[in-house]
Amino acid sequence: MIYLNEFKKIKDSLPLGVGLIAVSKGHDSEAIRKFSGYGQLDFGESRLQEAIPKKNDLKDLHRLRWHFVGKLQKNKVRGVIKEFDFIHSVDSLPLIERISRISEEEQKTPNIFLQVKFRDDPKKGGFLKEELLKSWSKIVSLKNIHLLGLMTIPPIFLNLDQRKDLFLECKDLATYLGLKDCSMGMSSDWQVALEGGASWLRIGSLLFGKRKA
Ligand SMILES: *Cc1c(COP(=O)(O)O)cnc(C)c1O
Repeated sequence: MIYLNEFKKIKDSLPLGVGLIAVSKGHDSEAIRKFSGYGQLDFGESRLQEAIPKKNDLKDLHRLRWHFVGKLQKNKVRGVIKEFDFIHSVDSLPLIERISRISEEEQKTPNIFLQVKFRDDPKKGGFLKEELLKSWSKIVSLKNIHLLGLMTIPPIFLNLDQRKDLFLECKDLATYLGLKDCSMGMSSDWQVALEGGASWLRIGSLLFGKRKA
C-alpha cells in the first residue's frame, strides 16, 4: 500500500531545493519500487539488516539513493558506509571519527548530517549545541567526510509552534556553521519544518501507512 495522494501533496509543496526522503523502514521493497515508478529516488532506512535485502531486491534501480536515518551502532559503521549514500544520524564526536577512519579504509566519502538535540529528550540522541561547537574544529578536519548539514528530531511533546521554533534554531545553527542543509520534518510536522528552513524532509507513515515494525 502506498499513499499517492499524500505523496503528490507533499511534492507539490516542496520549494525548489528541498528534497523528500521516503522513509521505508517497516515496509517491503515492492512499496519502494512503486514509489520509484513515480519518480521518488531518495529512501530512508533505520536498520542495516533490514535495508540490505531490500536493496538487493531493488538492484535493478540504479538511481535510488539510500539514507540511513536510524541510531548508528559502532559495529554497524562499516556496513552503513558501504550500503548508504547519506547518514543523517551522526550523534557524537567518537562516532564521526570512526566514520572518517572507516570511510578512508573503504575509499568512500559519505554525505553526513550531524544530529543535534535542541531540547532535553531522554529518548533521543544527538550533539548538544555547546558540545557541537566545542568539537567543531575537530569535525571539520576529518577526512572522507562530506558534511552536508544538521539533522534534528523534536521531542514528541512539543506542539507545532514549539517545533517550528526548534526547526528555526536548527536552521540558524546550520547557517552559523556554514552548512547548507537541514534534515528535519516527519509525517506529523513537515509543514512547519518547511517554514523552519528544512532542506530534506524524512517522511514515513504518511507515504507508506502504519509500520509493522
Ligand atoms: C521513522 C523515522 C522517520 C519517519 O517517521 P514518520 O513519522 O513515519 O514520518 C523520520 N526520521 C527518522 C529518524 C525516523 O526514524
